[in-house]
Amino acid sequence: MVQVNGDVTTCCLDEHLENRLGNVKDTPLAALWAGPTLRAWRIAQARGDFARSGPYCTRCSWRSAGAMPREAVVRYLEAEGEGALAARLRSAP
Ligand code: SF4
Repeated sequence: MVQVNGDVTTCCLDEHLENRLGNVKDTPLAALWAGPTLRAWRIAQARGDFARSGPYCTRCSWRSAGAMPREAVVRYLEAEGEGALAARLRSAP
């Protein structure tokens, strides 16, 4: 989500910007999207570790990572060198 002032957060639920990644006036959106913080938070969500996927996610009851098709998550993890996690997700029931 990009707020009217350019602040970027992971999520439409994050009205107080607890998961703030930066501001598009300082950093291109593509760099925030591909940056180390969001990468780490994505992988944490794929692990089901919402305590490490952004401060706001810790107490969120939506946990939207499951909305992403599993094969897309597996492909992302493989591309990011997270093969063991990708394999675990692929074989999960
Ligand atoms: S876990 Fe909740 S707060 Fe975190 S990105 Fe998903 S929906 Fe948003």
